[in-house]
Amino acid sequence: MRDETRLLHTAVDDLPFNALTPTVHRASTIVFPTVESFLSRHTRFYDGYSYGLYGHPASRNLAAQIAALEGGVRSLIVPSGMAAIMVTNLALLRAGDHVLLPDPVYGPSRSSAKQFMSGLGVEASFYDPLCGVGIAALMRPNTRLVWVESPASFTMEVQDLPAIAQAAHAHGALVAVDGTWASPLGFKALSHGADIAMQALSKHVGGHSDLLLGSVTVASEELFRRIKDASRFLGLGVSPEDCFLALRGLGTLAARLERQTASALKIAARLAEHPGVARVIYPPLPGDAGHALWRRDFQGGCGVFSVVLQPRAENRLAACVDGLRLFHIGASWGGLHSLVAPVQIEGTRTVSPWRDRGPLVRFSIGMEHPDDLLEDIELGLDRYGFDREVAAE
Ligand SMILES: *Cc1c(COP(=O)(O)O)cnc(C)c1O
Repeated sequence: MRDETRLLHTAVDDLPFNALTPTVHRASTIVFPTVESFLSRHTRFYDGYSYGLYGHPASRNLAAQIAALEGGVRSLIVPSGMAAIMVTNLALLRAGDHVLLPDPVYGPSRSSAKQFMSGLGVEASFYDPLCGVGIAALMRPNTRLVWVESPASFTMEVQDLPAIAQAAHAHGALVAVDGTWASPLGFKALSHGADIAMQALSKHVGGHSDLLLGSVTVASEELFRRIKDASRFLGLGVSPEDCFLALRGLGTLAARLERQTASALKIAARLAEHPGVARVIYPPLPGDAGHALWRRDFQGGCGVFSVVLQPRAENRLAACVDGLRLFHIGASWGGLHSLVAPVQIEGTRTVSPWRDRGPLVRFSIGMEHPDDLLEDIELGLDRYGFDREVAAE
């Protein structure tokens, strides 16, 4: 079955009221018919039902959908994308271990490595996202985990996952991929060498900027149980309503991503020609530095891209962005509404210097008409004041 069909092929409950949509069961406590079934409830921790915290029909249903989409065996649904990152770290890393993260990794992931994992005795170091097989030189005997995030949240570098995974595996390390940008529809990390595929479901899967969830998908039962055990010790449970909303989001995921990618391609191509723009960074755009790798490994994109504006003596970025009428200023992405985020790049990288001088802005293209969005950005670039500068040069 193809992904687009599978997205609508959710398990239907076997109840007299047999709704076409997934059922929301709210419960902390569930009850058992016999002493025997109560005393053996722990055997149903990984699969069945024993307590609301450990799984309910909506979370099991969502986990099955995400596992199938990622091409994995098992998924765990957790309260946020950040929880998915941390449950993976806490399940797989111990004092004395070393973990590698790409230099432009999702900000809270970077700070948790330095401010939290370090306190547990786990050492983190950062690597150039474009190093490819060069990662081999950074592997240490105690390197247990290599994170990949592709494309990177703000700077959109596409990583050579197969090359990195091969080198990591040769050194006995596991590879975890934050694949939030493309969603599991656009990038099957497990089939390109990852052991763990992580998603912030809060973004494209939720799709409406109104829920927080994350997923961790693996290709082995053993790995799943290690991560699921960690989630139990951390007390991580998810709301059935949020899982319901994520399942509902899955139904329109393909259509939303298709439209947002088409709109973003149109807007990005026009901006790439604009005199106020130094560079557009969008892997699906032909000519982008990551385009060849993206074409090789990805099946789809999304509406998130970044733009480097022409550097100006006087930085008028605020005038440009504050006056946008259709773009709301916000850090997230993947909803129906278009968002814009000015990026503070200074101090966020340590091993792969950022060479562009102009201000960096990230756009998340929503479901509005692309021509309206383009006009809004073009008026913003007028406020930025490129024309007088370029004319004077
Ligand atoms: C948003 C995001 C996360 C974190 O997800 P939350 O649900 O907001 O915690 C992790 N990685 C990437 C790439 C993200 O965009």
